[in-house]
Amino acid sequence: MKYKYVIIGAGLSGITIAERIANELNEKVLIIEKRPHIGGNVYDSYNEDNILIQNYGPHIFHTNEKQVYDYLSNFTEWIPYEHKVLSSVDGKLVPMPICIDTLNELYDLDLDEEGMRNWIEKEKVPIKEIKSSEDVVLANAGRDIYEKLFKNYTEKQWGTSAKNLDSSVISRIPFRFNHDTRYFEDKYQGIPKDGYTKMCEKMLESDNIKIKLNTDYKNIIDDIEYDTLIYTGPIDYFYDFKYGKLLYRSLKFITETYDEDSYQEVAVVNYPNDYDFTRITEFKKLTFQDLKNKTTIMKEYPGFEDEPCYPYPTQEYLDKFQNYKKDMDKEENIIFLGRLAQYKYYNMDLIVKNALDAFEDKIKV
Ligand SMILES: Cc1cc2nc3c(=O)[nH]c(=O)nc-3n(C[C@H](O)[C@H](O)[C@H](O)COP(=O)(O)OP(=O)(O)OC[C@H]3O[C@@H](n4cnc5c(N)ncnc54)[C@H](O)[C@@H]3O)c2cc1C
Repeated sequence: MKYKYVIIGAGLSGITIAERIANELNEKVLIIEKRPHIGGNVYDSYNEDNILIQNYGPHIFHTNEKQVYDYLSNFTEWIPYEHKVLSSVDGKLVPMPICIDTLNELYDLDLDEEGMRNWIEKEKVPIKEIKSSEDVVLANAGRDIYEKLFKNYTEKQWGTSAKNLDSSVISRIPFRFNHDTRYFEDKYQGIPKDGYTKMCEKMLESDNIKIKLNTDYKNIIDDIEYDTLIYTGPIDYFYDFKYGKLLYRSLKFITETYDEDSYQEVAVVNYPNDYDFTRITEFKKLTFQDLKNKTTIMKEYPGFEDEPCYPYPTQEYLDKFQNYKKDMDKEENIIFLGRLAQYKYYNMDLIVKNALDAFEDKIKV
């Protein structure tokens, strides 16, 4: 078998670059995907109660990159959804990220903008050199906010204290000195009208694209000839773990369906201090699906055993990745793309942007 381009992984990275190669260059592409479906982590599907579930956790598209929004709009219309998150603390549900309403509800205050600035100024803990994620929150918001909203959530999410996590994990605490309770402020926000899977299917519509599902690329790659390999899988696996394993935090997703119209007030409620799960998502609140007497929710349990979700942000693993990076930089006919190959958390918009840029800079030239 001979293909000019072979892509490993049918996630958003692989799909975007496949679409460009197939439709703009009119070249044939083979995608090899180990899961039984396309879309990678943005895959969604209807459950037995006909509710559209995002199988790998809630995905809200948001960006300020017009190029990315315009590009994806070729393949989908959008549900104009603006994300809201509440955090369950001390028996109250308070808005996240922190705005005037968060403080007022959490501490029974009646602050205005100036009052909030003064309150935070008084709470901040002076820290000479910010090293960890704990330092970031203490220095910017003070100890009580840290303990109520961040400490246990971070510990659950990463399996270690915020003291041990690089400051980049919580690089800044977004404070809004206003009443804006939206989670994101980006110009373009939404959910694909018929779901992410349908959007991905449209991107892959070309006859130039062949997809092989349920296949680990290592089982067949020796029998395929290619000029360029585009790799979007885990980088340590690619190099047979020669510099050791990279750690990824994973999530177990548990869904439950209730015979009710509505389960909670907003699409996502965080539970920083109670339970083993971090948050509950109610899917109907993301997609506005009009279904009576049924609603499906998802609980997320962090761990290390399931599908890799987040590169692990401690110095040990960031350093280890640098060893792999040196080898990656020497490769000539291999392009590394996406969160697993680049060992970096990216939102969907940057994933698409990086793939579009790689197409322009490394393939189209
Ligand atoms: C819980 C969660 C919530 C998120 N929420 C948001 C959000 O709200 N907004 C947002 O913008 N972003 C969100 N993201 C990020 C988003 O999921 C990623 O940006 C995007 O899915 C990354 O695409 P990718 O193609 O790089 O990786 P992936 O989607 O992981 O695709 C890589 C593919 O490679 C395949 N693969 C791996 N190894 C092999 C192999 N050996 N052989 C063949 N195939 C292989 C995998 O099966 C996978 O399908 C979230 C991520 C998580 C984990």
